[in-house]
Amino acid sequence: AKQEGRNTFRLFEPKMQERAARHLAIENALRRALERNELTLHYQPQQCLKSGRILGVEALLRWKSAELGDVPPAEFIPLAEESGLIVPIGEWVMRTAARQMVAWMAAGLPPLVVAVNLSMVQFRQSNLPARVGAILADTGLPAGLLEIELTESVSMNQPEAAIAMTRALQACGVMLSVDDFGTCYSSLAYLKRLSIDKLKIDRSFIGELDTDHDDQAIVSAIVSLAGSLGLQTVAEGVESPGQLDFLSRLGCDIAQGYLISRPLAAPDMFRWLKSRAGS
Ligand code: C2E
Ligand code: CA
Ligand code: CA
Ligand code: CA
Repeated sequence: AKQEGRNTFRLFEPKMQERAARHLAIENALRRALERNELTLHYQPQQCLKSGRILGVEALLRWKSAELGDVPPAEFIPLAEESGLIVPIGEWVMRTAARQMVAWMAAGLPPLVVAVNLSMVQFRQSNLPARVGAILADTGLPAGLLEIELTESVSMNQPEAAIAMTRALQACGVMLSVDDFGTCYSSLAYLKRLSIDKLKIDRSFIGELDTDHDDQAIVSAIVSLAGSLGLQTVAEGVESPGQLDFLSRLGCDIAQGYLISRPLAAPDMFRWLKSRAGS
């Protein structure tokens, strides 16, 4: 058994070193990603289930590193959070997304809401409302066209501070949504105290919506809970017409997912939106 333990240890050690080295390489490359213009945003549309109209887009970060190639956000965002790099990167995301919406409006698209993902690290910065205000002022984006997505865990942490921050952000006029809703346990009493506008139902509840009765019950409960709290619901990860149909019958407000469109680079999303607008 002792021998086995040692062998197991030897088997794992190189893997762990490999992982640590990869993390270090990502962090070093990420430090220079902004100045080297390696970051871009892709955009994924959100559709109103009642009217079929496109109401807005979610901005999703993409990184093509000179040294490492394409690195998925699920891999580099946790490291950006650990190192604090998420603060300047997150600021860049908000500014770039805001500028893009203003440019699209100037190019003739109807006003669209742009949703950006906000890290817990950013959410804890007391000057966040001032930064958001500065971005709106600099870019000229109307506050009501910016939506900030918080994860459910962000808002659970230090509840009183989170409540105060959502109030301060809403006072700026931006919209707030709780992302990945349903993956954490949050009390209804607490949810009610947050100043938020929307719940985004986590895509893990949407994938098997056509056949899974538990998921159907959960999604139905979330939609009715949101309705009674005066919140809108967004379903993410909608991939099939059956899912769309089910959500629509439940009274879910907005759908987002591959069925409508994959996230696309800005020029491609512009063309997609233009053709959808029927012009
Ligand atoms: P998220 O906020 O939950 O974003 C939705 C993710 O689901 C995106 O992955 C999107 O490409 C993917 N997706 C959209 N529709 C479908 C679908 O129909 N089926 C499936 N299977 N997937 C779908 P992505 O772009 O890889 O982003 C992963 C996560 O990285 C995001 O999850 C978000 O938590 C984080 N992230 C992305 N951009 C940013 C950012 O600018 N700042 C921060 N802090 N986090 C970000
Ligand atoms: Ca999101
Ligand atoms: Ca999500
Ligand atoms: Ca999710």
